[in-house]
Amino acid sequence: MKIRIIGDDILRQVASEVDEFDDKLVRLGEEMIDIMHDSDGIGLAAPQVGISRRFLVIDISPLEEEAEPMVFVNPVIIESMGECTLEEGCLSVPEVHEDVTRPEEILLKYYTPTGEAKTEKYSGWMSRVLQHEIDHLNGILFVDYLSPIKKKLIASRFSLT
Ligand SMILES: [Zn+2]
Repeated sequence: MKIRIIGDDILRQVASEVDEFDDKLVRLGEEMIDIMHDSDGIGLAAPQVGISRRFLVIDISPLEEEAEPMVFVNPVIIESMGECTLEEGCLSVPEVHEDVTRPEEILLKYYTPTGEAKTEKYSGWMSRVLQHEIDHLNGILFVDYLSPIKKKLIASRFSLT
Protein backbone atom coordinates (compact mmCIF):
# COMPACT_ATOMS: atom_id res chain seq x y z
CA MET A 1 0.00 0.00 0.00
CA LYS A 2 1.26 3.41 -1.02
CA ILE A 3 -0.06 6.79 0.10
CA ARG A 4 -2.00 8.49 -2.71
CA ILE A 5 -1.26 12.14 -3.41
CA ILE A 6 -3.70 14.93 -4.41
CA GLY A 7 -4.49 14.55 -8.10
CA ASP A 8 -5.14 10.82 -7.71
CA ASP A 9 -8.79 10.09 -8.66
CA ILE A 10 -9.44 7.76 -5.73
CA LEU A 11 -9.11 10.70 -3.30
CA ARG A 12 -12.16 12.29 -4.97
CA GLN A 13 -14.45 9.26 -4.87
CA VAL A 14 -17.16 8.65 -2.29
CA ALA A 15 -16.07 5.47 -0.51
CA SER A 16 -18.51 2.61 -0.03
CA GLU A 17 -19.55 1.14 3.31
CA VAL A 18 -17.73 -1.79 4.83
CA ASP A 19 -20.13 -4.75 4.98
CA GLU A 20 -17.88 -7.57 6.12
CA PHE A 21 -16.30 -7.59 9.54
CA ASP A 22 -13.63 -10.26 9.41
CA ASP A 23 -9.95 -10.95 10.14
CA LYS A 24 -9.02 -9.20 6.89
CA LEU A 25 -10.54 -5.98 8.20
CA VAL A 26 -8.67 -6.30 11.51
CA ARG A 27 -5.44 -6.82 9.55
CA LEU A 28 -6.15 -3.83 7.31
CA GLY A 29 -6.45 -1.70 10.45
CA GLU A 30 -3.09 -2.93 11.73
CA GLU A 31 -1.40 -2.34 8.36
CA MET A 32 -2.84 1.15 8.05
CA ILE A 33 -1.72 2.03 11.58
CA ASP A 34 1.83 0.93 10.61
CA ILE A 35 1.77 3.06 7.44
CA MET A 36 0.43 6.04 9.41
CA HIS A 37 3.19 5.69 12.04
CA ASP A 38 5.90 5.24 9.37
CA SER A 39 4.69 8.45 7.67
CA ASP A 40 4.47 10.42 10.95
CA GLY A 41 0.74 10.94 10.42
CA ILE A 42 -1.98 11.15 13.08
CA GLY A 43 -4.79 9.90 10.83
CA LEU A 44 -5.18 7.84 7.67
CA ALA A 45 -8.32 7.02 5.68
CA ALA A 46 -8.58 3.93 3.46
CA PRO A 47 -8.92 5.93 0.18
CA GLN A 48 -5.48 7.42 0.95
CA VAL A 49 -3.98 3.96 0.49
CA GLY A 50 -6.09 3.14 -2.57
CA ILE A 51 -9.03 1.42 -0.86
CA SER A 52 -12.36 3.14 -1.48
CA ARG A 53 -14.02 1.99 1.75
CA ARG A 54 -15.44 3.83 4.78
CA PHE A 55 -12.58 2.89 7.08
CA LEU A 56 -9.98 4.99 8.90
CA VAL A 57 -7.32 4.90 11.60
CA ILE A 58 -6.24 7.61 14.04
CA ASP A 59 -3.44 7.94 16.58
CA ILE A 60 -3.07 11.39 18.10
CA SER A 61 -0.44 10.32 20.65
CA PRO A 62 2.09 12.85 19.24
CA LEU A 63 -0.40 15.53 20.44
CA GLU A 64 -1.98 13.82 23.44
CA GLU A 65 0.31 11.44 25.25
CA GLU A 66 -2.33 9.09 26.65
CA ALA A 67 -3.97 8.47 23.25
CA GLU A 68 -3.86 5.06 21.58
CA PRO A 69 -4.31 3.97 17.96
CA MET A 70 -7.98 3.63 17.04
CA VAL A 71 -9.86 2.15 14.08
CA PHE A 72 -13.24 3.50 12.88
CA VAL A 73 -15.49 1.63 10.46
CA ASN A 74 -18.47 3.29 8.68
CA PRO A 75 -18.26 6.42 10.89
CA VAL A 76 -21.21 8.83 10.80
CA ILE A 77 -21.34 12.23 12.51
CA ILE A 78 -24.81 12.48 14.04
CA GLU A 79 -24.40 15.86 15.68
CA SER A 80 -21.82 18.63 15.71
CA MET A 81 -21.42 21.54 18.10
CA GLY A 82 -19.40 24.76 18.37
CA GLU A 83 -16.64 25.95 16.10
CA CYS A 84 -12.86 26.15 16.25
CA THR A 85 -9.90 26.91 14.01
CA LEU A 86 -6.85 24.65 13.97
CA GLU A 87 -3.96 24.09 11.59
CA GLU A 88 -4.30 20.97 9.45
CA GLY A 89 -2.03 19.00 7.21
CA CYS A 90 -2.53 15.80 5.22
CA LEU A 91 -0.32 12.92 4.11
CA SER A 92 -2.01 13.22 0.68
CA VAL A 93 -1.14 16.94 0.39
CA PRO A 94 2.52 16.94 1.47
CA GLU A 95 4.06 20.02 3.05
CA VAL A 96 0.87 22.10 3.10
CA HIS A 97 -0.35 23.32 6.50
CA GLU A 98 -3.29 25.71 6.76
CA ASP A 99 -5.89 26.86 9.29
CA VAL A 100 -9.31 25.28 8.89
CA THR A 101 -12.49 26.10 10.84
CA ARG A 102 -14.74 23.18 11.74
CA PRO A 103 -17.20 22.21 14.48
CA GLU A 104 -15.49 21.75 17.83
CA GLU A 105 -17.39 18.73 19.12
CA ILE A 106 -19.00 15.80 17.38
CA LEU A 107 -21.25 12.92 18.31
CA LEU A 108 -20.07 9.94 16.29
CA LYS A 109 -21.58 6.59 15.47
CA TYR A 110 -19.17 3.97 14.19
CA TYR A 111 -18.24 0.30 14.23
CA THR A 112 -15.09 -1.41 15.49
CA PRO A 113 -13.33 -3.79 13.05
CA THR A 114 -15.03 -6.69 14.84
CA GLY A 115 -18.48 -5.22 14.15
CA GLU A 116 -19.31 -3.68 17.53
CA ALA A 117 -21.51 -0.57 17.21
CA LYS A 118 -20.46 2.47 19.26
CA THR A 119 -21.65 6.01 19.83
CA GLU A 120 -19.15 8.44 21.31
CA LYS A 121 -18.69 12.17 21.81
CA TYR A 122 -15.35 13.64 20.71
CA SER A 123 -13.77 17.06 21.18
CA GLY A 124 -10.32 18.61 20.74
CA TRP A 125 -7.84 16.99 18.37
CA MET A 126 -9.71 13.70 18.22
CA SER A 127 -12.81 15.48 16.89
CA ARG A 128 -10.69 17.46 14.44
CA VAL A 129 -8.82 14.48 13.01
CA LEU A 130 -12.05 12.45 12.76
CA GLN A 131 -13.73 15.21 10.74
CA HIS A 132 -10.70 15.49 8.44
CA GLU A 133 -10.56 11.71 7.89
CA ILE A 134 -14.34 11.36 7.37
CA ASP A 135 -14.04 14.04 4.66
CA HIS A 136 -11.62 11.68 2.87
CA LEU A 137 -14.39 9.07 2.76
CA ASN A 138 -16.53 11.62 0.91
CA GLY A 139 -13.86 12.68 -1.58
CA ILE A 140 -13.14 15.94 0.25
CA LEU A 141 -9.65 17.26 1.06
CA PHE A 142 -8.87 19.94 3.67
CA VAL A 143 -7.52 22.26 0.98
CA ASP A 144 -11.08 22.44 -0.43
CA TYR A 145 -11.87 24.78 2.49
CA LEU A 146 -9.16 27.30 1.60
CA SER A 147 -9.55 30.60 -0.25
CA PRO A 148 -9.61 30.57 -4.10
CA ILE A 149 -6.11 32.08 -4.18
CA LYS A 150 -4.64 29.39 -1.94
CA LYS A 151 -6.46 26.69 -3.89
CA LYS A 152 -4.90 28.01 -7.10
CA LEU A 153 -1.41 27.94 -5.56
CA ILE A 154 -1.92 24.37 -4.41
CA ALA A 155 -3.27 23.34 -7.84
CA SER A 156 -0.14 24.69 -9.56
CA ARG A 157 2.17 23.21 -6.91
CA PHE A 158 0.76 19.71 -7.47
CA SER A 159 0.26 20.22 -11.25
CA LEU A 160 -3.51 19.75 -11.05
CA THR A 161 -5.65 20.77 -14.01
ZN1 LIG B 1 -5.86 13.87 5.08
